[in-house]
Amino acid sequence: MELRKTFQFEAAHYLPNLPKEHKCHRLHGHSFKVEIVVEGECDPKLGWVIDYADISTAFKTLWEQLDHHYLNEIEGLENPTSENLALWIWERLQPKLSILTAVEVAETCTARCVYRGVKKVKECQ
Ligand SMILES: [Zn+2]
Repeated sequence: MELRKTFQFEAAHYLPNLPKEHKCHRLHGHSFKVEIVVEGECDPKLGWVIDYADISTAFKTLWEQLDHHYLNEIEGLENPTSENLALWIWERLQPKLSILTAVEVAETCTARCVYRGVKKVKECQ
């Protein structure tokens, strides 16, 4: 089964690698929406895959780094496109949330990026 939990954050950014004439080269803000997608077996006794609150807990420190921040100043987000944001979230969230299957980042109501990243398998010692 697949679960999806949506978060929202407000942030400013600009896209430095675009031509100066492009509107996204100017400093502006978005009400970003992030959807965290997980997949797993439904526990027969509990009747759920995971507590939604556990998804919130796993995402909390990342959300705090993003909400009401200037994204270009965050390490790894110097070019904060939706694509790079989805990748940035995936790489930090997947180690804490092993059943993560996708990160969706929407910067407007009509434009969003879905990243189904590569799972890092823990090495056996
Ligand atoms: Zn933008």
